[in-house]
Amino acid sequence: MNHFNPQPKITAKTLATDLDGTLIPLPNNAGNVSALAELFKHHQSGEINLVYATGRHFESVLEAIVHYTLPTPEWIVCDVGSAIFRHRGDSYQRYTPYEDHLAQTTGTVNRAKVETCLNHIDGLELQPPDHQQRFKVSYQCTSEVLHKLVDTIEARLQNDDMPYDCMGSIDPFENCGLIDVLPRNVSKAYALLWLATHADFLPDEVIYSGDSGNDYAALVSGFRAIIVANSSEGLVEKVQAKLQQRNLSEQLYLANKEATSGVLEGCKHFGLIK
Ligand SMILES: [Mg+2]
Repeated sequence: MNHFNPQPKITAKTLATDLDGTLIPLPNNAGNVSALAELFKHHQSGEINLVYATGRHFESVLEAIVHYTLPTPEWIVCDVGSAIFRHRGDSYQRYTPYEDHLAQTTGTVNRAKVETCLNHIDGLELQPPDHQQRFKVSYQCTSEVLHKLVDTIEARLQNDDMPYDCMGSIDPFENCGLIDVLPRNVSKAYALLWLATHADFLPDEVIYSGDSGNDYAALVSGFRAIIVANSSEGLVEKVQAKLQQRNLSEQLYLANKEATSGVLEGCKHFGLIK
């Protein structure tokens, strides 16, 4: 896991946020919609920088921006941290320094080699091309065989000495198994911390907001952190325990409100929004 030692006196300037369950308004929640409008206004006036950090693939982030009328962020960390895009002019461009970094860490082991290593596993199927990235090989399977396949993949990766890890999850909408194979240690938190040390903002300026297990690493990295009130069970306790151990309990704000409203509440708590 990636950590840094924060200097809390530095003023927060950048909101890095998860999308689903966090920045995106919950269904039929008028309070969330007006909180989003307020955040939108503060972003447009240049008071805050925005970074989205999500498991969604790039096109799906763009769809969400249009569908939910989200502000246009300066940076998008997508595909579970395997790709970063930068806003330039009217569009987004892949941030090649991060690609170069991942290419360096994986050496000659590219996605073709990963696919070959994981060939012919019963029940394992590649996801469609728009879900694939240069540094993310994504598979699908039925939910019943997910855990077995994750074990099989891990064993094969280890056996062939591949610098990659695999993560399995259940797609809550389709109830099927999703498996991502990523360069070792790469996650949303990894990409965000890399970005914060290589781009136009600093880790100490970042507030991170999230709602679920895949936000855990970013929430305990040392960024100022917001957990929204609709967070998944056990997340608060787990994050609190880790931050206490690092003597960083004051970095965490537990919002009283859900999703977008909780994000806004936390931004006010940390002085990002007056
Ligand atoms: Mg989420």
